[in-house]
Amino acid sequence: MNIAKDSVVKLHYTLKDDSGEKLDHADESEPLTYLHGHKNLLEGLEAALEGKAAGDQVEVNLAAAQAFGEYSEDSEQRIPLKHLNGASKWEPGMTATVHAENGRHQVTVLKVGHTMATIDANHPMAGKALHFNVDVVEVRQATAEELSHGHAHGPGGHQH
Ligand code: ZN
Repeated sequence: MNIAKDSVVKLHYTLKDDSGEKLDHADESEPLTYLHGHKNLLEGLEAALEGKAAGDQVEVNLAAAQAFGEYSEDSEQRIPLKHLNGASKWEPGMTATVHAENGRHQVTVLKVGHTMATIDANHPMAGKALHFNVDVVEVRQATAEELSHGHAHGPGGHQH
């Protein structure tokens, strides 16, 4: 079957920046499984995968603005420590997830105090053009439970 809204898609991929440096990857030991059409991936990446099938290889190039945004100076913010998600103890340099009105954001922790942290609100990949080489491994229909949760379950997907 071809990737369409409500497909669950298993991928292997390599992500590189403009200089060819590897930023991230997913392979057999750690695949990425996502629910298509529910904003679980970058919009440009989902658009490029639409209509593809298992066995397809897809190259996707996204400018910074289409990926995690341009890098903006002056984006230091002080926020309550309890708003940082992803670890129980924080140190400078760590990446945290912050929930905001317009969704989840990844930020970089700069300083840690007793109750407040200073963060760089730029996504860790802000300002980078992204180059994905994607192998579509498996495409299946989402279960009713996955649709009600808005994400894929199982290996590479959401584990409850
Ligand atoms: Zn779920």
